[in-house]
Amino acid sequence: MGLIVQKYGGSSLADVEKIRNVARRVIALKEKGNQVVVVVSAMGSTTDELLSLARQFTSDPDERELDVLLSTGEVVSSALLAIAVQSMGHKAVSLNGGQAGIQAEASYSRARIRAVVPRRIWSELGEGNIVVVAGFQGITEEMDIVTLGRGGSDTTAVALAVSLGAEACHICTDVEGVYTADPRLVPEARKLGEIDYDEMLEMATYGAKVMHPRAVEIGKLYNMPILVACSFNDSPGTLIHGGTTVELGNKVRGVAHDLNVAKVTVLGVPDRPGIAATLFEPLAQAGISVDTIVQNTSVDGITDLTFTVAQSDLEKASRIVEPITRSIGSRGCVTAAGLGKVSIIGSGMQNTPGYAARMFKALSEAGINIEIISTSEIRITCIVDGGKVPDAVRALHSAFQLEEE
Ligand code: ADP
Ligand code: ASP
Ligand code: MG
Repeated sequence: MGLIVQKYGGSSLADVEKIRNVARRVIALKEKGNQVVVVVSAMGSTTDELLSLARQFTSDPDERELDVLLSTGEVVSSALLAIAVQSMGHKAVSLNGGQAGIQAEASYSRARIRAVVPRRIWSELGEGNIVVVAGFQGITEEMDIVTLGRGGSDTTAVALAVSLGAEACHICTDVEGVYTADPRLVPEARKLGEIDYDEMLEMATYGAKVMHPRAVEIGKLYNMPILVACSFNDSPGTLIHGGTTVELGNKVRGVAHDLNVAKVTVLGVPDRPGIAATLFEPLAQAGISVDTIVQNTSVDGITDLTFTVAQSDLEKASRIVEPITRSIGSRGCVTAAGLGKVSIIGSGMQNTPGYAARMFKALSEAGINIEIISTSEIRITCIVDGGKVPDAVRALHSAFQLEEE
């Protein structure tokens, strides 16, 4: 008898009928002889609604209380799914993150999982239950509730699959798998049969929100196959795994985009050792992740330094950076929101020249100005005006002929 972890996202649980659909699916899986652990997200847009409720009191709610509040969304759907399964005559039990043994570090809103101690899950499985776990949350050593970052239920699922030694982890969502680009933006996008961890990690990190990046990271680390599939039909989905991909014909595998991008430019920075550390250490301590960093060659010992952060972190980042710019004797900083990232990704691009040139040409032919460029071995990213992102994604998808197998 196999053990399978299945995760259902918010849109798959958005109303009573959809919860019934999920209940039927997990019962069917159990009836095939599997032990079943289900990880659930909050119903529909509950997390956003809870966030805006808190913001009606203050624009900067206390982090601890916000995590307590946000974690309730997943708790509600776990209990409702357990009730739905029971109403169909099967045994089920819901567990919150702490009860399920998800131990996390004490870092509100973006905690990482430290360990999984799934004793209670094993005993409930032993009783013949379908175990429904509230995703996106863990418990600290001090027994505080923390959340794992937006989209974090995927990470709960993969971490549980690893610690339970599951046969597979299924991420069930509102699209049929991982596509060559967001199918909502590019109707011609093609579903991939498989993709390797590294490519998926870059896609997810650079905006393909179908998977949470940390979930892919854990999958890669422990070699857990992850199947991304549709909650509403039985089409085969996309397997994320560690083997080399067969579809190597086209060396760009996908285009990712991200609209949550802002930039900070520190003007007239004295070009001397230690300045970058002075700027970036406090940002790191505040949990702000800095992405692309560009420093121009200095003229007369003075340079400009630009970096990007998530737009949602911009206010916090500029509160931290502004006093530092004064203390280091720079001319101050300017910020710009409303930017976007478009990336082309593919392991086959490694050590192969020409991809950057083709990307820049496609963007220029679409009349799109590139502000900043960054690369990894298997990715090229351009930062452009946010409003141009949809056109940029479509232009790149067609320039690299991703609609063709
Ligand atoms: P869930 O609520 O199930 O976690 P998400 O909204 O987090 O679902 O992720 C699914 C969404 O990811 C899809 O509806 C799709 O719009 C978006 N998406 C972005 N890029 C891709 C891609 N390359 N392939 C598939 N879906 C993508
Ligand atoms: N409910 C959380 C969110 O909206 C976590 C998740 O859906 O995975 O980000
Ligand atoms: Mg998600």
